Amino acid sequence: MSHEVPAVPVPRRPGLMSLEQALEQLLSAAQPLGGQQTVATLEADGRVLAQDIRSALDVPGFDNSSMDGYAVNRAELAAAVAAGQALPVSQRIPAGQFGPVLQPGSVARIFTGAPLPAGADAVVMQEEVEASLDEQGQGLARFSSVPEPSAFIRRRGEDIRLGDTVLPAGTRLGPAELGLAASLGLAELPVRPRLRVALFSTGDELVMPGEVAPEQMAPGAIYNSNRYFLAVLLKRLGCEVSDLGIVPDRREATLDALRQAAESHDLIVTSGGVSVGEEDHVKPAVQQLGGLDLWQIAIKPGKPFAHGWIARAGQVGQATESTESAEAGKVGEAGNTAGRCHFVGLPGNPVSSFVTFLLLVRPLLQRLQGVSSGLGIVPVAADGLPPAIFLPAHFDWPRADRRREFLRARRNAAGGLDLFPNQSSGVLTSVAWCDGLVDLPAGRTIARGDSVPFIPMAALLG
Ligand code: AMP
Ligand code: MG
Repeated sequence: MSHEVPAVPVPRRPGLMSLEQALEQLLSAAQPLGGQQTVATLEADGRVLAQDIRSALDVPGFDNSSMDGYAVNRAELAAAVAAGQALPVSQRIPAGQFGPVLQPGSVARIFTGAPLPAGADAVVMQEEVEASLDEQGQGLARFSSVPEPSAFIRRRGEDIRLGDTVLPAGTRLGPAELGLAASLGLAELPVRPRLRVALFSTGDELVMPGEVAPEQMAPGAIYNSNRYFLAVLLKRLGCEVSDLGIVPDRREATLDALRQAAESHDLIVTSGGVSVGEEDHVKPAVQQLGGLDLWQIAIKPGKPFAHGWIARAGQVGQATESTESAEAGKVGEAGNTAGRCHFVGLPGNPVSSFVTFLLLVRPLLQRLQGVSSGLGIVPVAADGLPPAIFLPAHFDWPRADRRREFLRARRNAAGGLDLFPNQSSGVLTSVAWCDGLVDLPAGRTIARGDSVPFIPMAALLG
């Protein structure tokens, strides 16, 4: 990235807010939802732990061998090696069995995972041992060197000690965490309830795939693509999604739909209709039922974004139409947002919708779900983004923008980044093609070879 004088002035237009500001406001109005459920460990993928998990045992539970080989006493082995003698093999210990004390002057045949016999203090792997039989058919083992103390021994408790907090509350559970819980003997886990999210699309031009064939599409109609990726993004982040289709294009019906959705959901997500001056019933309806802020965020794609809340039954009387009511309802002041459903309105342009979801809705979901970094110790910056990696740009980006840009790019075989040629916010192909976003600060250009921050898509989707 060129760090010289920017080609355009960096100051944003007044009224545009930074991503950090938007995120801070969004998160300050949200607190983790309560509640707890017990689910089978096998069913807990993607869920968030509601309690610390402590270990009721040492893991491993006993000293054991990490190799197929021979359990030895190093002092005795040293003497045998010096004298050029082979040692008798006095026992055989497969995994799952427990052998007696090692007989003095002997070694034990041992297999991976088998308990180390008392008296042994190292394991020699079988590849380094010359095995033979004596005249009586007794096994003999000849060693050429003496191993380090504790060689190839996994010590009791070296992974986990009894009483350790193994997984803290707030950990998002994935394959590794579930395996770890199982290694502690846990067949069930305490998790937070799934976040219930209602998803609406807005726009008279929208048609659901499957309802009208491509060749029969009316002029001006388009398929509703946002619904598909938003539903899947939400599900991947552990939400229970109610897909409520396209918001009816009438004021009363819109009010009813939103009011009903608010009753049984924690969050309502809509796409479309948040641009300035747009004809749309959702904004006034949310204002009437709770509070709404319309933000112009200094990012590209994804400038327009709406955030607010809808009061549930019995709370409507307390709500006013003004933004102040949303302010007054912030956690810490009112202390309780249980009576309200959160609302976010994403831009309609598919790429803007996708990217603002990743940049803003994902951290909001994590806050509501009570996700902490857990064992993964993911450093989260003030802007809520996963850490970027720096890679050389194999492209030029000569046009600086006033807004911070998130360019769709892909790692190439030469270790650099290629840019999708069309960065328009309507071109969903760019998102399918890319495997991450270049995070380009406002006012900056990129010259081929510059090292640029790249946020892998995988980190944003998990
Ligand atoms: P809007 O934010 O409603 O002004 O929409 C901006 C652009 O996104 C318009 O071209 C819309 O047709 C398009 N759009 C809105 N919603 C969707 C959707 N659910 N799926 C695909 N495109 C959409
Ligand atoms: Mg629209």
